[in-house]
Amino acid sequence: MTVINKDLCIGCKICQKYCTVDAFVYDKEEKKMRVDQDRCTECYVCLRQKVCPRDAIKPVELDNFYKQFQHVLSDPVENHGVTGVTGRGTEEVKTNDVSGRVKKGQVGICIDMGRPGMGVYLRDAEKVAMACAEAGVELASQVHTPLAALMPDLTTGKLVDECLGYHLLSVIVEGNCQAEELKQVLQALKKVSKEIDTVFSLGLIVRTDENGETEALSCLDELGIPQPHRGKVNVGLGKPLTLA
Ligand code: SF4
Ligand code: SF4
Repeated sequence: MTVINKDLCIGCKICQKYCTVDAFVYDKEEKKMRVDQDRCTECYVCLRQKVCPRDAIKPVELDNFYKQFQHVLSDPVENHGVTGVTGRGTEEVKTNDVSGRVKKGQVGICIDMGRPGMGVYLRDAEKVAMACAEAGVELASQVHTPLAALMPDLTTGKLVDECLGYHLLSVIVEGNCQAEELKQVLQALKKVSKEIDTVFSLGLIVRTDENGETEALSCLDELGIPQPHRGKVNVGLGKPLTLA
């Protein structure tokens, strides 16, 4: 947990410029800063960059699992213990040429929630995960993605209640659906995007045909979703474990 030692704080407000989610709150009466613990993501930017001239910002031991989870996903230099990946703990299905996680006839779904300046509460990640699961997405397991550790039943996407109030800098909801289910998944995402208090960007991972075409783009057109201006093309040199 990140806290301010009030005996050291001189209320200069320098720290406010550095917080990724506006978690430093100035107390006008006391003329001191405090950390809004509901907003703080434990990203440790303020601590790593030593932004306080009085060294008044202090880390307090993260004494529960959810606090540690929050820190590991919000601090880009932390390594996730299970997946072994730094920065949100997942390589996502974007490395499909190596992992072969998205098979022919499937679409990989990667929903990148939250942004610096905004963050994401896990209650909103739950809404998105549940909307995906209901629309036919098979959510990724915790071998691949950290969020699954909070999801006792991957078929529903429901998270454990204890975690819902925690605020992260960013988190990724990911999984696969069958190509014919993509339209209903996109419709569910359009609907849930109006029910959450943050933003997300959507990545679609597909195997193109020999002409470089994919039906997924027609699906976007059909629903009036602008086609992406950029994409990442993996040419398959990683020899995926499955060619199916
Ligand atoms: S930078 Fe340090 S001294 Fe200045 S307001 Fe923030 S915590 Fe207080
Ligand atoms: S740990 Fe991150 S979110 Fe928390 S006060 Fe510091 S910069 Fe802001």
